[in-house]
Amino acid sequence: MKVYKFGGASVRNADGVRNLHKIIGDERNLFVIVSAMGKTTNALERVFEGVQKGDRTLCAEQIAALREYHAAIVDDLWHGPTRLERVEELFGELERIASETVYRPEDAELWYDTIVAFGELISTTIISEYLRFAGTENGWIDMRRCILTEQRHKDAAVDLEASARRLRDELAGRPETVFVGQGFIGGAPDGTTTTLGREGSDYSAAVVANILDAESMSVWKDVDGVLNADPKIFPDAVQIAELNYLDTIELAYSGAQIIHPRTIKPLQNKNIPLYVRPFGDKRKPGTVIRGMSAPVDVPILILKKDQMLLTIRSRDFSFVLEEKFASIFSLLERFRIKANLIHNSAVNLSLCVDNTWHMDEAVEALREAGFDVMKTSDMELLTIRGYTDELWRRYARGPQVFIRQATQATVRVVRKRNRN
Ligand code: ASP
Ligand code: MG
Repeated sequence: MKVYKFGGASVRNADGVRNLHKIIGDERNLFVIVSAMGKTTNALERVFEGVQKGDRTLCAEQIAALREYHAAIVDDLWHGPTRLERVEELFGELERIASETVYRPEDAELWYDTIVAFGELISTTIISEYLRFAGTENGWIDMRRCILTEQRHKDAAVDLEASARRLRDELAGRPETVFVGQGFIGGAPDGTTTTLGREGSDYSAAVVANILDAESMSVWKDVDGVLNADPKIFPDAVQIAELNYLDTIELAYSGAQIIHPRTIKPLQNKNIPLYVRPFGDKRKPGTVIRGMSAPVDVPILILKKDQMLLTIRSRDFSFVLEEKFASIFSLLERFRIKANLIHNSAVNLSLCVDNTWHMDEAVEALREAGFDVMKTSDMELLTIRGYTDELWRRYARGPQVFIRQATQATVRVVRKRNRN
């Protein structure tokens, strides 16, 4: 068995879907994981916001636009006006949820997951039906029943053992040899829908690869492979031919948009190679990620945007030390705030964190717990692995740098957002 994963950009239009079919070719024993088409998840996040704010017009507008967008892709694929009954049903369900939900703030994450999951349900339905129409028999798999997660919404971790039983049961006895399933979504023990965090389809694919003992996993992307930096931000980016698992985890954790950070563990456990390959050209080698690759020999630059710097100080001037750390971190965990960089002095604890929904509540709770908290917004976290003197001079100095942490190999800089 092989696992192929197609991200939203690869299936953003009918050409993309036709290309997916071409890439599958006569490959059999294949599990295909697909994300929502194009920017669908963003639009569904706005539907959720509409539910959250009680703004029915916003919901209706967003859903109408999504209907139109998917209908155009379907019409193009089937060469003329076509209605796919199952897609209509999914839109009907989505509309019903958006207009009938009685929203309570404590259920925010539950409704978020329930709504955004439609992106993948719709994309896989269209793609599965199209593949059949184009001559490739395949089985559509409802991953809400097969990928069992912890009881936590919006950023759930997969229960690998429980999922293994479910997925194997689901596939047992099915005649097909090509399967199409949704990335990003799963089911909680209580039966509700969960999601694995934005860009989580990679993680889904890795879980499937692990469970099915796949010989390889390939992520088909709109880039030639993994680059050492985002070319939109850093000129002179070059492609990396091979990466090992460890470097990849470090990169993903620092914010490189290569792969969802949780993707590597399920692959590493079974030593499954991961190929990052260009969607546009099957012959190009892409990048291979596996256990044995040597460390990379070019510097790697990763910029994590939309960060906030929290400077926390105990109000009684006692040192912000061990026992205080525990209470601060458990409080942040409660509000699902991830610290991307930690820096401490005698009286201060500085944390560079993702700017998330619950930030204000978390800051309020910290204040109630006896801490003074200073928030600095518009920050970025830049990580340079294998830095050179020149890179240091260019990026790790200057008035915009608030914090700098360096080891022999890596420097990490919390800096004010670059406005250009
Ligand atoms: N559709 C989801 C997202 O846009 C998951 C994914 O693309 O991996 O975040
Ligand atoms: Mg995506």
